[in-house]
Amino acid sequence: MPSIKRRLFFYSVIIKQMINYKSEKVIYRDGEFYSSKDLGIVAASQTLHYGFGAFEGIRSYQTANGINLFKAKEHFERLKDSCEQIHLPFEWNINQLVKDTYKLLSKNKLVNAYIRPIVIAEADMTMVNSNKSHIILMAWEWNSYYGGELLKTCFSSYESRNPKSSPISAKVTGNYLSSVLAVSEAKRKGFDEAILTDMHGYLTESSSANIFIENDGKLYTPKEENIIAGITRKTIIQLAKELDIEVIEKNLTPEDLKKTDAAFLCGTAVEIVGLQLIENHVFPLAFADSLGAILQRVYKNIVLDKLSFEVII
Ligand code: PMP
Repeated sequence: MPSIKRRLFFYSVIIKQMINYKSEKVIYRDGEFYSSKDLGIVAASQTLHYGFGAFEGIRSYQTANGINLFKAKEHFERLKDSCEQIHLPFEWNINQLVKDTYKLLSKNKLVNAYIRPIVIAEADMTMVNSNKSHIILMAWEWNSYYGGELLKTCFSSYESRNPKSSPISAKVTGNYLSSVLAVSEAKRKGFDEAILTDMHGYLTESSSANIFIENDGKLYTPKEENIIAGITRKTIIQLAKELDIEVIEKNLTPEDLKKTDAAFLCGTAVEIVGLQLIENHVFPLAFADSLGAILQRVYKNIVLDKLSFEVII
């Protein structure tokens, strides 16, 4: 334990530095000079510089009963949990956030939308977790993520985030560098999406969705260990149970994926989307005939509050 004198010395250095960058300054952006007041918190936030932030993705749907902000409470609860896991303050009331999200949709005249809440750290150039944060909600119109197409996927040369370097069940901004690198690499190679593996070589997820594979009429999906166990994944597992479809959560390898009959991804933004191929392996079972297609239809009915009706996707 360092002496009190030494600790006081360090604290005074940190406080001095904090005052330095918090005083108003001129900041440069894209050829223009601005007051740091105008560029505000974001330019000096630990979120921007160090990936110390947390975010969510929520979908809203037009239904016969009005707008359905699908599982909004669960998303804000996960946002709170993500913040708590990294010690970023989360001091908002979740019910209020849900109400404010409906208001935001209304102010933007949005119905079928994607909502992106993000908690950012206060301006702070130290590496010590800021004790103040801000929440921002954005929303924009959203229909189909991949336009109904089946996806061509490849394995990523980037590994999934390592649970020993940051909490991976948290939707933390810094964790998403590997997603950006992976999907960008996939696109450069002519694929639509990347499938990542963990440090043991087991399948984890795509850049932003969970994966299910189908073999001999059963579904398999990676265990919760080294993935974001998504809200959609949980919904799919529940729906499968109700439909008497067996779902087995286990470690899966890239070889398992290459040998499988069919596969799909699921997530709030992508909903359920079938895979056409992985690398040079075309899945032999047509997606339309797979369990993924059945779950896709049922999922759509759930989000649209049409439990007893079929919809055409
Ligand atoms: N994995 C990753 C890496 C994600 O970013 C997401 C999207 N949040 C998911 C899985 C799916 O999660 P959810 O179903 O909760 O959207």
